Formats: sequence, C-alpha cells, structure tokens
Amino acid sequence: MFRAVAYRPSRRVLLGAGVLAVVGLLAVLDACGAPHVGGRGRRRPSILLLTLDTTRADRLGCYGDPDALTPQLDALAATGVRFEAAYTPSPMTLPAHTTLLTGLEPPEHGVRINGRQRLPDGTATVAEQLRTRGYRTGAFISAYVLAKRFGLDRGFDTYDDDLSSARPQVVHEQLSVNRPGDVVVGAALAWLESAGGDGAPFFAWVHFYDPHYPYYPNASLAGTRFEGVASYDAEVAFMDQQIGRLLAFLDESGQANDTIVIAVGDHGEGLGEHDDEEHGYLLNEEVLHVPLILRWPGKTRAGTSSAALVTSTDVTPTILDAAGIVPEAPLRGRSLRAMANGELAASRAAYAETDLPLWTFGWSPQRSLTTERWKYIRTTRPELYDRANDRREIHDVSASHPDVLAALDAQLANIEAGFHRTAAPPVSVDAEARQRLAALGYVDAGPPASVWVADGARRDMKDMLPVKQLASAVAAGLATGRLDRARAIELTRELVRQSPESAGFHLRLGTLLLQTGDASEAVPALGEAVRLRPDDAEARTNLGQALVRAGRLESALPEFRAAIALAPDLAEAHLGLGTALAAIGHLDEAADRLRSAARLAPGSADAQLDLGNVLLRQGQEREAEACYREALRLRPEDALAHLNLGTLLARGDSTDEATAEAREAVRLAPRLAAGHHLLGRLLVEEDATPGAIDEYRIATELDPTVPEFFDDLAAAYAANGQTGSAVATARRAMAKARTLGRDDLARDIGQRIAFYRTGAAASPRVRPGAMKRD
Ligand SMILES: [Zn+2]
Repeated sequence: MFRAVAYRPSRRVLLGAGVLAVVGLLAVLDACGAPHVGGRGRRRPSILLLTLDTTRADRLGCYGDPDALTPQLDALAATGVRFEAAYTPSPMTLPAHTTLLTGLEPPEHGVRINGRQRLPDGTATVAEQLRTRGYRTGAFISAYVLAKRFGLDRGFDTYDDDLSSARPQVVHEQLSVNRPGDVVVGAALAWLESAGGDGAPFFAWVHFYDPHYPYYPNASLAGTRFEGVASYDAEVAFMDQQIGRLLAFLDESGQANDTIVIAVGDHGEGLGEHDDEEHGYLLNEEVLHVPLILRWPGKTRAGTSSAALVTSTDVTPTILDAAGIVPEAPLRGRSLRAMANGELAASRAAYAETDLPLWTFGWSPQRSLTTERWKYIRTTRPELYDRANDRREIHDVSASHPDVLAALDAQLANIEAGFHRTAAPPVSVDAEARQRLAALGYVDAGPPASVWVADGARRDMKDMLPVKQLASAVAAGLATGRLDRARAIELTRELVRQSPESAGFHLRLGTLLLQTGDASEAVPALGEAVRLRPDDAEARTNLGQALVRAGRLESALPEFRAAIALAPDLAEAHLGLGTALAAIGHLDEAADRLRSAARLAPGSADAQLDLGNVLLRQGQEREAEACYREALRLRPEDALAHLNLGTLLARGDSTDEATAEAREAVRLAPRLAAGHHLLGRLLVEEDATPGAIDEYRIATELDPTVPEFFDDLAAAYAANGQTGSAVATARRAMAKARTLGRDDLARDIGQRIAFYRTGAAASPRVRPGAMKRD
C-alpha cells in the first residue's frame, strides 16, 4: 500500500488538474484489475533503469567524444532519443540517485549528502509505486553509498547491495568498495532470467560504479586501445561493454520491444576542470551535465535528440507515465514522453546544490541555476557563465552582467521558496563505515553546524581547492601508509593554519596526536573541534579519550556522555565512558557501558578485555574469564588478554594453563613487566625457583617503580638460599613502598627482612591482580 504523502500543490499540477483526474480514474480502475494490464488494455512495459555513476556526458561517443569507446550506449542512443542538456541537482551519488528515484529535488526529499541521511518514510519512491501495480522490482547496486541503510531499497523485491565481490584492493581495504560492472550485470541477468511465468513486467535498476575513482584495468578490454589501461575512459568503456550484455538479453529474450530503457548519469567528474579532479564540491558543467538516453519502443523516434533543458527529476515522472501511474504526490519533474516523441518542449531552469564544502570544511555551500542561456553559481564570490558561448564555464562574466546575476539570483530564490522541504533522518555511521566513506573522499567530518546561510562570510570553495587537495593527500597518505605520522601531523598543522574554521582539521590533528600518545597537545586540538562542531560525536569521543590519557577523568565523562547522546550506537563512546568510569571506581555503571560497547561492537577485543577487568574487580570471575577468552578469540595476539586470563586462572587450580598464558603474554610482549612477574609467581608455585628469579629480575628491570616486583624477587632469593641478595632486594622494595606512601607494605617488607636474616623462606604472597589497558 502507498504511504500517505502530504499533498503538495504546485503550478504544474494546477495546470494539468483535468488530465490528472482522468488518468487517476484509470489508475484506480486498473488497480482492481489484472496487475500487468494498462488502463487501455495494453500490457505495461518493463523498465530498465541504468544509472551511470560519475559519467560525464561529454565522454560518450554519442555525446560527441570522438575518442570514446562506447558502442553500446551509442547504439542505444541511435535507437532512442538522446537528451543533450540533462542536468543533475546534486554532484553526489546518494542525493542524485534519490532524485532519480523520487522525482524530487534534494531539499524536497531531504537527502542532501552521502552517508549521513536516509530517505524519509513519507516520501514515495518510483519502485514502491511500480511494485504496488504488479511490477517485479529489482535493484543491483555497486557501491556502499547506495546501501540499503540509506533507504533507496524501499519498493524493491530484491535489493542486491552485496559488496562481497568488491574488486581486489590496491592498498588497504578502506580505500575502495567497488563492485565491478560485470558482477553487477551478472546478478541482474540472473534475476531477469528468473522471471516467473506470470508475465508481470519488471522494473530493474542497475547501478554502475566503474567510472568512479579508483580505476582498474579490465581484462575484457583486451584487443582494444584500453587493453591493460586503468583510466577514467577505460572504465567508461568497460561499463559500456557490460551495459551491452543487458541490452543483448532484452533482444535475445524478445523483450526489447516491451522494455523502456533509460540510461542516465548521476553526476559527472572534474577530471582537472576548474582545478578539481573529483566531484561533490563544485557545481560546474563537468559535474552537473549528465548523459540521459531514453529508448521507449513505439514512442521514441530513433536516433533523435532533444535540446531542451531537462533534469534528473524528470526520470521518475517518465517511468510512472510509461507504467500508466499517476504520481501519489505532485512531483517536481515532468514526463519526457512528448520530447521523446520529437515534440518541442520548453527548457526548465535546472536547480543544483552542494553542501559538501560546509559539511566537510566549514566553507560556503553552493547553489546553482542553469538556464538555456546562463549558468549562475551562488557562493561567496558568485559566478556567471554565458552558456551560449562558454559551455565549459571558463570565463566568469559576473562583473560585466550584474543585472543578469541579480535576476538569476532572484529566480533561484523563487525556486527555493517553492520547495516543500523535508528533513531526512540522520543515519549514524559506525567507525568502519566512516573510514570507508572518508577513504572515498565523501565525508570526513560530522554533521553541519548550521543550515545554509548565504552570509558571504564563509570561504569560497574555489579559493580553497589547494587546501582540500592537501587534505585529500594527507588522508590518502595515512590510508595507504605512505605518510608517516610525524609528517602527517606536520601537514595537518598546516591545514589548521590555512583553515582554522575547519572542525575536521582540528579533529584529525587531535586524533593523530592522541595516537602518538601526546595527550597534552591532543586535548586543545580536539577541544577546538568540539567547539566548532558540538554535535560531532566522534570529536567528543576522541576528546574524552585524550582527557583520559591526560589523567583528567572527571572532565572526560561529560564528553563521552554527550557523544552517546548524539550517537547512541557509537561503540567507542560507550567503551571510553566505561573505561573512565572503571578508572574512578564506578564499577556498576562501567560494566553497563562496557556491555553496551561489546554489544555494539561484537568484534571489539578492547570492549571484552575492559569488561573482563571490571567484572574481575566485581568478583565475577567466571564472567570475567569468558570475556578474556572472547577477547583472545577476537585478537589471539593480545598480550594483555593473555596476561589477565593467566592472572585469573592463577587464582584457581589451573596453574598449568595459567603458566601457558603467562608465557604467551611475555612471548608476545617481551617488555611487559607484569607478564614476567606473573610468570615468576607461577614458577615459584611449581618450585622452579631459579626460573622465577630470572623472571622477577626482568620485571624489576623493565619497571623499577613497582615495590611488589622487588619484594617477590627478594622472597625468591631467600627461597633459593641467597640470603644476602634477598635482604638487599627487600630493602629496595621497602624504600620504593615508602616513596609511594605505602607504609603498610613497607612495614610488611620490614618483617620479611627479619625473616630472611634468620635464613627462613618468605611468607606466602598476596594473589596478583589484573592489569588494565594503558
Ligand atoms: Zn555518484
């Protein structure tokens, strides 16, 4: 059933109200009849939607690139209609696709940025409407940014976002999650071939990510000029080949004449124009102009083209029109049927936006308006281009045409005023996903501190491109390990100097400093990140960790609590809070937080280890043991987990296993003093006193501050008959205990010295306690 959507009046709907009423009646009648039969008794067409990620129109043969190797898309254009002037409203994958699948502008569907928002429940998708009318619906996507969690799966019987076949990775796993086109097409073909015999039409959406950076060579291009080549154009050629498999399937299965094919780009790519290699931050022609090819059997006039300005908002109305469905709510776009049929249509001004400069860096977001004649970009230093003579937007003519600039700004403001805005719910992103998105260059800071304010005070993206490029180089260098941490800190300090308004730079600097153990410098850097962006849970978590490291436990608690309030499923915040609470002795609440951390991050050995330590202090030895064993299952090479498990086992009867754990701890961490100390104690119990003396001695050398290490060493000397060494070592233990103000221990050691002088062995030891991380 449809979800209720608030009625949104628009001028377009008022003009077409009569038509809508008639078609609406047909749709209602149709809903009661056979699902695959149209209002006039014709079979509903199937629909194949191909979305071409990061594909510039001008890099396809049919759009005039003589060097392109795109015979399949060219052939599609030759049998359909090509829209010469199609524009996306967003240079980002998720917002652009959300527009394609809803027919709404980004402020209307609310998904403005990759990775942080999901489609609101009340917004109808084209797939939902088609499924309700009896369509089989399947989506085959190839990038994490379109994963189910972002909401575009609504209405699809099958939403295949399985990225387990992602390409072999050039460096570390974070750099890229990219399912190649041949795999995506394989999955889509399997689904298409499995069509039931009920004759229901299908709606298949196949998303290609190949032209998105990074580039890979493709074996199927052997014998072409792209053999062995990893480049943008080679990936476009590979995508084109794979599209050919789908088109061939339609031909071979006899469905070509019953299937509408739409191939559309989500956005383009900078490729060096306007000093940008990528997309997302600018709104120039190369990222907004997308290919749009429509083959509508019996409707499109083969090999024609339409020059009218159209946008991604027109795709959903076109699909609904093809299926004979009246939109549930008025849509921003219009059906392209008439234009596909060769009718002339008026251009519509194309709106576009990007908030990425604000989200990522605190710089000015951009808005743009493309008309037949002009292109206007609203930013701190506005831009105006004469499209009639300068489609590549090289010469900014804003200074010589202030009247045009003002008129376009007013037109843009008028369009914005007409938006029926929706706020999309935020999606909280776990640490792994955040790293993945950051590696793709998408999001490397938290949510925006404010909504778009055209105050002209924020810096202009085009002026800040060198800073953005340096930031990308630092991020890539860290991800690949090519950049050492000291150099990364140096470069990040430079970024902070050049753009102190960028919360993300302070966050990165503070996090790097924290990783080097420099808490005193990390605290102010992370404090500034939080000041600039109080709603960034990650910054607050890292600030909490830095405060813990600096010994300021009480100050750390509110930061962790704020982070949890902002992002209740941020495991690191629960872990930090639990660890800090344990350190100040609030064991019950600490155990609660650490249990949450372990639940939210089932793969976190740290959460298990810290929870085990708290449980041990609460006397819950069995539960603590289970935590230590789980920590070791997750991270078998964790020396502290071996040490703590060994310590726990040493309390009971499992001394053999305890000894094995202690030996493993010192094998993995030869400089772990507590490990040698534990091993020494266990060797004493096995009457292996000389071995125990060796281990205790190593412990005292590695950490000469712990009186117990010397105390135990003295006892072992005494047990071995080395009275002189026993007395001398016990005296050192006593002095250290006094220095630490542990007078009771010093007094006990004094009594033991008296025993040693008599030649007697030491009194039984106190049981060892568990070690904490850090
Ligand atoms: Zn994209």
